[in-house]
Amino acid sequence: MTTASAATRARTGQIASLSPVLKQATPVVVDHALGSWIHGTDGRDYLDFTTGIGVTSTGHCHPHVVAAAQAQCAKVIHAQYTTVLHTPLLELTERLGGVLPLGLDSVFYANSGSEAVEAAIRLARMATAKPNIIVFQGGFHGRTVAAASLTTAGTRFSAGFSPLMSGVHMAPFPYAYRYGWDTDTAVDFALRELDYLLQSRVAPNDTAAFLIEPVLGDGGYLPTPPRFLQGLRERADRHGILLILDEVQAGFGRTGRFWGHQHADGLTPDILITAKGLASGFPISAIAASTELMSKAWPGSQGGTYGGNAVAAAAAVATLDVIESEGLVENARVRGEQLLTGLRQVCAPFAGIGDVRGLGLMAGIEFISTDAAGNTAPDAVAATAVQQATTDQGLLTLTCGPAANVVRLIPALVVTAEEIDLGLSRF
Ligand code: PLP
Repeated sequence: MTTASAATRARTGQIASLSPVLKQATPVVVDHALGSWIHGTDGRDYLDFTTGIGVTSTGHCHPHVVAAAQAQCAKVIHAQYTTVLHTPLLELTERLGGVLPLGLDSVFYANSGSEAVEAAIRLARMATAKPNIIVFQGGFHGRTVAAASLTTAGTRFSAGFSPLMSGVHMAPFPYAYRYGWDTDTAVDFALRELDYLLQSRVAPNDTAAFLIEPVLGDGGYLPTPPRFLQGLRERADRHGILLILDEVQAGFGRTGRFWGHQHADGLTPDILITAKGLASGFPISAIAASTELMSKAWPGSQGGTYGGNAVAAAAAVATLDVIESEGLVENARVRGEQLLTGLRQVCAPFAGIGDVRGLGLMAGIEFISTDAAGNTAPDAVAATAVQQATTDQGLLTLTCGPAANVVRLIPALVVTAEEIDLGLSRF
């Protein structure tokens, strides 16, 4: 590698570097990684509570996933699904049938969360012939232009490249902590505001879908209250609007249930979006809906060259094996409770920490500053300082939230009780 780059440099005089837009949260360069651990080129071991932003859920390089991907590489790497099918995709589809909500029996594949979000929006608009999408304050749905148009988790995701996609309308999210209310009051308020929006500005007859995450991810690790999701389902049914759940970050066991929305009893979305934990690090995403709904998208309107890649699909099948055989959904629930309880104890003495919250293995710590009059404001400086200090301590964490004032911890679903304790002591 050194020789090749030296030769290139000799030929062109040019040295390429990564785009400065890739602002790195830590100085770590990974040499190799296994389970909950990243081994840096600096010779240090880091306990990884970021999992590539909620992706390597079965831990880094799980042997079963590695073996499946290696075996698949030797059989077929890529076969384009509109031309020829391959067995990993057929097997994955069959296996997903066993974990998807009843009635969502048709699956479409893409590569990333953003592409799957776009596929869901395209499907919703084609199926309903209606233009509007209602999103909720603090939602994050990706960085393609359409996905960024649906994202309200911070201006940094969409500033500077408008015009964005039209037909997107934002309704309040029941952010109880920020409003200073209890959850029920916040839910009542947000549902009332949504009803008002539907009566005054965004007619249900012109509205294709509600789009929401079961736990706001980049928006600050805020679990969506089950009663709010149920209120959306009820309004969706009443008005003929589709309910799209973005389970890209909260799905695949991360919250201690297989899907994040399963914390809301009896709830079924019309379209479910999944990615991240689906294949333990291989790029693949999917949307699921009923066959009836899915057939409203005409051939050619959805798809992409690499969608449903064979190696990624084989890794996804192996991921499902591991989740099942190692009881990882239950582990996420139990270890998540351990993590949240421990964080609440660790954080209790600090006035600069306003809220500690989460669901399963998604934990968020919100940093605030308080002025002389007792008014609080988001404190991104403190959150960043803590996130960087944890790296120094050998614990990788990330920040999130519209004001970037939340430190989030996203351990692998294979995390052990000892690793959670170690993470807490380093935090
Ligand atoms: N939706 C949610 C809830 C996400 O958390 C993300 C990424 O963080 C996306 C969509 C976009 O996924 P990707 O970055 O794979 O495009």
